[in-house]
Amino acid sequence: MEHPENSAEYKGLTVNSGVAQPSIVNPYLKRGSFRHRKLSVSDYVEGILKGDVTILGQAVTLVESTHPDHQTMAQEVIEKCLPYSGNSVRVGISGVPGAGKSTSIDAFGVHVLEEYGGRLAVLAIDPSSERSKGSILGDKTRMEKLSVHPDSFIRPSPSAGSLGGVARKTRESIILCEAAGFDKIFVETVGVGQSETACHSMVDFFLLIQLAGTGDELQGIKRGIMEMADGIVINKCDGNNVDKCQLAATQFRNALHLFPAPDSGWTPQVLTYSGFYNLGVKEVWDMVFKYMDFVKANGYFEHRRNEQAKYWMYESINEQLRNSFFQNELISSRLPLSEDMVLSGQKTSFVAAKDLLETYFRWMKQG
Ligand code: GDP
Repeated sequence: MEHPENSAEYKGLTVNSGVAQPSIVNPYLKRGSFRHRKLSVSDYVEGILKGDVTILGQAVTLVESTHPDHQTMAQEVIEKCLPYSGNSVRVGISGVPGAGKSTSIDAFGVHVLEEYGGRLAVLAIDPSSERSKGSILGDKTRMEKLSVHPDSFIRPSPSAGSLGGVARKTRESIILCEAAGFDKIFVETVGVGQSETACHSMVDFFLLIQLAGTGDELQGIKRGIMEMADGIVINKCDGNNVDKCQLAATQFRNALHLFPAPDSGWTPQVLTYSGFYNLGVKEVWDMVFKYMDFVKANGYFEHRRNEQAKYWMYESINEQLRNSFFQNELISSRLPLSEDMVLSGQKTSFVAAKDLLETYFRWMKQG
């Protein structure tokens, strides 16, 4: 058909007729042959052990899935990978939003890979990501250099469920990453509330990023978090911020003296650095690796990993019991009424909880 654009009205414009298109780009390609092919447990395990990051990524997705079939399969994959895991340096990196976590992880990651070689996985725990629909922690776009590094694997926080659930998934992903040959693991977390405790329970070294402020920065951080830290690093020690950072470091050092000595026998260090200008980054990592040598020599490394395994066994029991209770149909049908009764003062919280638990236990007995 003649194109109207080719008429005299549109001078200087001609539309040519196109060429015939093939029906399908590659006639030999079987549709869905690999994109949709479901991987078996041994496909996952083989791929992971070969260090295939595409399969590793898919396995992490499987771990994060809430689908019961996926969860069963994920547990099998994890169990098969377990004997190949554990051989890494796991470092937790925490700090309030804006402390410079992603800028620092970019600089830290590149430094560690250049200086020590190996492969680095960056994972995250962000309990707020469920509400905000997607975590910004561990976001590749925030780690420009590391995200294009051939030896890095970056994964944002899993977003489903409670903090315990999110943290468990991150811990399980660590196992998969280690089995895939990642011998350095960073776990990023926000410096607000309980996520640090969860992060602390899966790493060998807990690094707390702080900023120098108005001189009263110590008031803002919780005692428990400072006690968890194996190293405190004050970021943005550059330009006209250097004096303030050094003052803050002195204050942190003095404050740390007031705490009881940690079980590790290691004295937590306080350092200043600039992630953005790459100043003092080497000193931070010299400290981390010095700690590793120290705790491996005195047996604390092994002890901490064993304690963590025990902690996660109890966490896992708690999580499964909680899920079994709340996903029980009888319980979920009675919960709204119980809530109303507590709100209107007809029952105390304790009695309402006891009644529901008794209902649940009776239901369990009946099988
Ligand atoms: P996050 O929220 O903890 O991940 O923090 P970001 O890494 O996104 O950094 C927050 C802001 O601080 C950004 O504007 C960074 O450019 C800036 N920043 C990070 N590290 C440094 C540093 O070492 N020096 C200076 N001057 N600014 C920094």
